[in-house]
Amino acid sequence: MTPPMSEGHVLSTLHRDGTRRWLEPRVARGRFLRRRRIVGYALIALFVALPFVRIGGRPALLIDLISREIVVGGAVFRPSDGFLLMLLGLAIASAVFLATALFGRVWCGWACPQTVYLEHVFRPIERWLVGPHGRRATPVRRVAKWAAFAALSFALANVFLAYFVSTARLAAWVFESPFDHVAGFSIVLGVTALMLFDFGYFREQTCILACPYGRLQSVLLDQQSLIVGYDARRGEPRRQPKKRLPVVQAGGDCVDCGACVAVCPTGIDIRDGLQMECIGCAQCIDACDTVMDRLDRPRGLIGYTSQDILAGKERRLLRVRTIAYPALLAVAVTLLALGVRGKASTEVAVERVSGPSFVELPDGTIAAQARLRIENESDAEQRYVVTLVESPGATLRSEARWRVGPRRSVAVPLVIESERALFRGGRRDIHVEIASGDGFHRVVTLTLLGPEQPR
Ligand code: SF4
Ligand code: SF4
Repeated sequence: MTPPMSEGHVLSTLHRDGTRRWLEPRVARGRFLRRRRIVGYALIALFVALPFVRIGGRPALLIDLISREIVVGGAVFRPSDGFLLMLLGLAIASAVFLATALFGRVWCGWACPQTVYLEHVFRPIERWLVGPHGRRATPVRRVAKWAAFAALSFALANVFLAYFVSTARLAAWVFESPFDHVAGFSIVLGVTALMLFDFGYFREQTCILACPYGRLQSVLLDQQSLIVGYDARRGEPRRQPKKRLPVVQAGGDCVDCGACVAVCPTGIDIRDGLQMECIGCAQCIDACDTVMDRLDRPRGLIGYTSQDILAGKERRLLRVRTIAYPALLAVAVTLLALGVRGKASTEVAVERVSGPSFVELPDGTIAAQARLRIENESDAEQRYVVTLVESPGATLRSEARWRVGPRRSVAVPLVIESERALFRGGRRDIHVEIASGDGFHRVVTLTLLGPEQPR
């Protein structure tokens, strides 16, 4: 039975019958590819080196799942730093929005790991092992390609894991049995499998279908944002390749050679205008520049431009987005810097108690429960002393001295005896001071629950 056909073009990566159109983009060597490769290899080196870099004795970047903390630039964020983490997220989001408003999909084409690894690592290896038409290569070459992909993915997955468990832990795990670290080893295998699937099979579909940032482009870009675009006023009407010389003949500069389409990693024709599938990789610019050089025409028929410039309008740097996003970024970064600078070496939080809040002792005194959590944010063990202050008629009956390891927290149960007559409406406030040897001290107010009626 003939499969149903769509009436027209649906996606650059689909045939009309819905089957996948496998792309085998050619490489256009040119100034932008050279620069993108330099950026790409520098980013790969940074990705591999960053887990080893230390700032102030701490990792430059670590999302420590075991200790439940995030280290960014040497600053430690814990679950109790929710506000600072929110500011960090806001700063990153506004920086991404600003970069997109100014430079369009420069992230996608130049710095996204998907593009960097696919275009500068996996595809070059593929072309080297199986040639430009890999799907027609011999089985031996294809096995060699998948073996190389698997080894590379496994190595990258280990580096990836280092961002979550630290290089020291990873180095120890590497020399131990995987069965001693089933969770970590499973993550490495899972990430390896995902990379193989992505870089070996899914490829451009990640950008076109799966990436949320790619889907958001239509709202993040404006008419002035930098895009890769085709100058239709100069290029149209196209001339047939066989008629392209001499160039003095009538018609636009585009000779309809198809070079810009043949190199596109997402399979689109940039001459159809700005499309969601365009990742701004500039391969079509390099391809078209080569053609223009051969025809002795000026470069730039396809180039970095904006929708307004293509429509003959002026470039405008100041727009609502380019004012609002930097303002938001400045506020978030300032508050974050102040918050990180003002972070104490210890955090104290009041927690809920379990069980009865109080009991009445035989002599009529009330023994009430409370609970604190003390988080030692420093890199050294701290000794804390918990005392009652400005709380007449109350006595602390529980442990007053606590040792907390570096970057650890402890739950501190408190039992406070208080005269019954001091409870009003079933409650009374007391004040607890927490002090440590490194000069930290804080007073927290606790509300104790007690009997409603004085006897
Ligand atoms: S590479 Fe340039 S000349 Fe060739 S089809 Fe594309 S736009 Fe036209
Ligand atoms: S249209 Fe050009 S810039 Fe956009 S993805 Fe294709 S080759 Fe890259």
